[in-house]
Amino acid sequence: MNLSRAVGYIIRNEQRRTERSQETVQESTIRRRIRNEADNRRRTKRVCIRNDVEEHNCGTMSEQCGFCGAVYWKEEKNTAHKYTKCCHDGKVQLPAFPDAPELLKVLLTENSPDAKNYRQRIREYNSAFAFASMGAQIKPPRRTGPYCYRLHGQVYHRVSPLYASDQHKESYGQLYIFDSSEATEKRLSNNQNCLQHVFEKLDFMLREINPFAQSYLQMHRLVQEHPTTSVKMVFLEDKNLDMRRYNAPTLCTEVAAIFVGDNGEPPANRDICVYPVGNTCQSISPLNQCCDPMTYPLLFPRGECSWNTGMEHVEERRTAKRTRVTQLQYYAYRLSQRNGFSILHNSGKLFQQYIVDAYVKTEGSRLHFLRQNQKDLRIELYRGLLDALECRAHNENIRTGKLIILPSSFQGSPRHMQQKYQDAMAMVRKFGKPDLFLTFTCNPSWSEILNSMECVQRPEDRPDIIVRVFNMKLKELLEDICKHGIFGTVLAYIYVIEFQKRGLPHAHILLTLDSESKIRTKDDIDKFVSAELPDPCTDLRLFQIVTKCMVHGPCGTININSPCMRDGQCCKSFPKQFKDDTEENVNGYPIYRRRATEPVQVGKYSIDNRWVVPYNPWLLKKFNAHINVEVCASVKSVKYLYKYVYKGHDAASVKIQKEGALDHDEILSFVEGRYVSAPEAMWRLNEFNLSHKSHTVVRLAVHLPQQQPIVYQDGQEAQAIERAALRKTTLTSWFELNKNDPSAHNISYSDIPQYYVFDKSTTNWKKRQRGGQNV
Ligand SMILES: [Zn+2]
Ligand SMILES: [Zn+2]
Repeated sequence: MNLSRAVGYIIRNEQRRTERSQETVQESTIRRRIRNEADNRRRTKRVCIRNDVEEHNCGTMSEQCGFCGAVYWKEEKNTAHKYTKCCHDGKVQLPAFPDAPELLKVLLTENSPDAKNYRQRIREYNSAFAFASMGAQIKPPRRTGPYCYRLHGQVYHRVSPLYASDQHKESYGQLYIFDSSEATEKRLSNNQNCLQHVFEKLDFMLREINPFAQSYLQMHRLVQEHPTTSVKMVFLEDKNLDMRRYNAPTLCTEVAAIFVGDNGEPPANRDICVYPVGNTCQSISPLNQCCDPMTYPLLFPRGECSWNTGMEHVEERRTAKRTRVTQLQYYAYRLSQRNGFSILHNSGKLFQQYIVDAYVKTEGSRLHFLRQNQKDLRIELYRGLLDALECRAHNENIRTGKLIILPSSFQGSPRHMQQKYQDAMAMVRKFGKPDLFLTFTCNPSWSEILNSMECVQRPEDRPDIIVRVFNMKLKELLEDICKHGIFGTVLAYIYVIEFQKRGLPHAHILLTLDSESKIRTKDDIDKFVSAELPDPCTDLRLFQIVTKCMVHGPCGTININSPCMRDGQCCKSFPKQFKDDTEENVNGYPIYRRRATEPVQVGKYSIDNRWVVPYNPWLLKKFNAHINVEVCASVKSVKYLYKYVYKGHDAASVKIQKEGALDHDEILSFVEGRYVSAPEAMWRLNEFNLSHKSHTVVRLAVHLPQQQPIVYQDGQEAQAIERAALRKTTLTSWFELNKNDPSAHNISYSDIPQYYVFDKSTTNWKKRQRGGQNV
């Protein structure tokens, strides 16, 4: 035992003795009994870590939803033993898409040069035939690797007028008014890596079956017939909307109404309107049911309409409160895999784009809602922010503009992350600092993923499969750790999901172990964590996994271009030093044993123990993935987990507008600053957790007497004050509880949620019936 540990030990013992001298005999008996019980539980619970663990396998997608036929893995059942991600328990029922045209089937599944070119450049082919464009900054991750569609910032959907002007080359819907060969020529000149005869075949197919192509041609004919009157074409937001809003159209195609003459109201804001001429492209509403088929003609060749606001749940399965199909439910239904050929799931890069687009649309709707309902947010909670804004505007001699808040209820917002961080720190306060830090990364070569690939698909083409398999594996991993106690008894855990630059998901997991299971000595560390290459003769499988998943870089002088290099140094300080023995605690982290052994050949590099990322052999063999296990001895790891919190988002939201007003728009700056990759979009569309913890943290109000925050709308201050006088906060109610209930006297305010529940309707603390998982 070194000196500082010894001193700490003596001090702790001293404290314990003082505390115990103050407790009664009865209390100490109770304490001892609780400890003994816990010990017994643990002894039975701890499983021995055997070396011959088999790799976890979820099998195949053998299960099916009884309502819509979506296919599932067995382990995807939710807590109610149901599969509901697809149609939400039969509530959503959408018409199946008609059979895919033979041409697309061939191009998406065969191995001919044409088909390969089509799949390689499917996004170029699609935009050459699209009627509407999706404008976004595409920021594919740097360096080589599988294709990953990732966008940055705002997204717009636009349509152009029927005829091109001097400023613009013909593109989009404009091309359908030319004859086939002329259109192909123009498309080819814009996309020189595509093939002429593939363009010709697709053009022929779309003119035949696509209603939008037909509408554009009809409009062109009408313009020719009526050269002097105005003509416009309208794609309604919702097919079932009342057509009487418009005067009778001159011509009604399957998807559009075309008007000649100056009749009809201006289009409602979500209708898409195409005029013959105009200088600019127009933004269209992402809520229009034609937005998807106009943007993705090669995913919806027959112009199959997408979600609209009027869609309803199946009558016999809907609840009284919610009867509408939400945008999220619509996309969840469409993105579910069912038997039979699906254009969507086979379209690779375009499928990735569609997923990102779909997620961004649903997120956009939610953000729009928040923007519209700023009054209902408890704006006075952000009083300090408003004061700061006013002060700055005053100093710069401009007026304050709008204050738009992105509240913490929005998953993934900076405020949300900040709150999560505070919750995590509350748990550290309660259970002590974390003992283990795990990073679990998705392995795209898991057999479940590879076995789900159809025809020529590659894992990166199926972000839907990737995130589902990762989610199942994560569940199993947490079960092993928390229920089966492979590291001992877990008191508390927290995890956060992140997406790497290439879009693969990974989870950071923090574990706090109980006092019996704490990892103290170097023998404890060696039992759980290894940082050495295993012997291929005794355990070949482990050796293969370690060399494939757990070797860092290499970087440094051998490979200066490694992504971990910053200013000529590895940011994770590899290669590590050789070390004959593990050392327990050096500045909060142990130094692991890395003996100097003969290097082995991995790929083109010669590798020894200095390059091995610390791992747990059992976990590695069970999950066959990159799982970094580190023993930690400080709270730094919690800060690392929530590192976003420190990026200072508030400053970025303040902008000076042209009119000389100081705006603070958190929603805008969030949208402008975000990156969305296909797997992340898919994770969000599946509504999987972005973070989770073992205990619920109850946020307690802290305020001075008579200064609790009040929610009110302009002009209703008096009523609000009256209401506030009747309602109690968690704090004022606790005072009252102490007045009336003597048994509550021994519980401090911060511990109260463990024993009492705060009833929001009566604003009273009530005794818990069951043991709470609250902090
Ligand atoms: Zn279903
Ligand atoms: Zn490195």
